[in-house]
Amino acid sequence: MTAIPFSVCVFCGSRKGAQPEFVKDARTLGAGLGKRGMRLVYGAGDVGVMGVLADETIRTGGDVFGVIPQHLVDWEVGKTDIQTYVITETMHERKKVMFANSNAIVTLPGGPGTLDELFEVMTWRQLGLHNKPILLLNTNSYWDLLLQLLDKIAAEQFTSPDFKNMLEVFETAEDILNRLDEIAAN
Ligand code: AMP
Repeated sequence: MTAIPFSVCVFCGSRKGAQPEFVKDARTLGAGLGKRGMRLVYGAGDVGVMGVLADETIRTGGDVFGVIPQHLVDWEVGKTDIQTYVITETMHERKKVMFANSNAIVTLPGGPGTLDELFEVMTWRQLGLHNKPILLLNTNSYWDLLLQLLDKIAAEQFTSPDFKNMLEVFETAEDILNRLDEIAAN
């Protein structure tokens, strides 16, 4: 039986966003995962930042595990040229399968869907349901306002400062890859 490689669940935009750095960082991350022999777990779309990330992981020899609900196969262009392509019935199942098959979570710039996915793993961790590392790539300060919002929520005593502290924030894709190396080694 072949061992399952260290697996990184990546949440990111189904659009490319306004700044070229969003796509550039997705390429760097995808190539870094591929070259390291790490497995990419993601939403199996061939659109936006998601598609670029998966293409680059595949191009560099990496293993890609994609999970998509049936109703999004056309909309997000289900990416079938990957090693594992799982179709679920619902969005909830998709998130569950992605989460269950990964050792760490990385969030890149993205939209409302990305936020939903990020907050679910953060709130699950706050509730003690898991202890997987959650890394955030703050490309060109994209997430600064989110980080400020988390400070505001803690200042207004709707959560503890620890909630934000569970996020490991990085400014470059290389820094994310270095941190993944550390996590994988432990
Ligand atoms: P977005 O960041 O909005 O481009 O979406 C990124 C990914 O999140 C896409 O694969 C979406 O299908 C997914 N997504 C969108 N809405 C939700 C939701 N409510 N729950 C889970 N995933 C979602």
